[in-house]
Amino acid sequence: MNPEEHWTMLEEEIVACRKCTRLAAYREEVARTRRRAYHEQEYWGKPVPGFGDPRARLLIFGLAPGAHGSNRTGRMFTGDSSGEFLYAALYKAGFASQPTAVSRNDGLTLNDAFISAVCRCVPPDNKPMPQEMLNCRPFIMMELDLLKRLRGVVALGKIGFDNILAVYRQKGYPIPTLEFKHGQVYEPGNGLPWILASYHPSRQNTQTGRLTVEMFDVIWTQARDRLG
Ligand code: SF4
Repeated sequence: MNPEEHWTMLEEEIVACRKCTRLAAYREEVARTRRRAYHEQEYWGKPVPGFGDPRARLLIFGLAPGAHGSNRTGRMFTGDSSGEFLYAALYKAGFASQPTAVSRNDGLTLNDAFISAVCRCVPPDNKPMPQEMLNCRPFIMMELDLLKRLRGVVALGKIGFDNILAVYRQKGYPIPTLEFKHGQVYEPGNGLPWILASYHPSRQNTQTGRLTVEMFDVIWTQARDRLG
């Protein structure tokens, strides 16, 4: 099987998953009830697969789909304010072909970057349970196996950060406990990619000024410089 077939198979497996009964029920309920502004649209309402360049050297690791963002559009970080904040920054740093992301067919491509998440289904209150994160872990492990050129990871938020470390521990690497700090780069050694921690571009962080456009731009410049 060639890499393209592997990616297609993985994507099909993710989209069909119903392992977390609570999340499967919730994503479908949100898709059924919809937000008034999107009432005319058909929601995706399924798990959201990873998105980006299969030859990427950079992995961007988020938390989970937004109820009316990727759970509506079917593509990571697409269709809500977190995505607007993220793609504008990725575009400036040369990782995205355009600064906006509105639908799966908007022409956006990623260059040297791949976006994935801890959970592929929207959780109530944006809070997946520990078992749900564990249930979803095999998917990121398979993506990591396919991302052969990976050199670095930008972990968006503490949960993403803790989970990417847990993934490498589960793969058998001796990773110590590390404390999340925005803007810090971690070198786990053992040939593993470096990990750059960033606050998540959630509305809660961007509207309170915890994460500003300038702070976020620094993250992507750092990532770009490290990739060389
Ligand atoms: S969160 Fe992951 S494991 Fe759980 S149902 Fe969705 S895709 Fe499956």
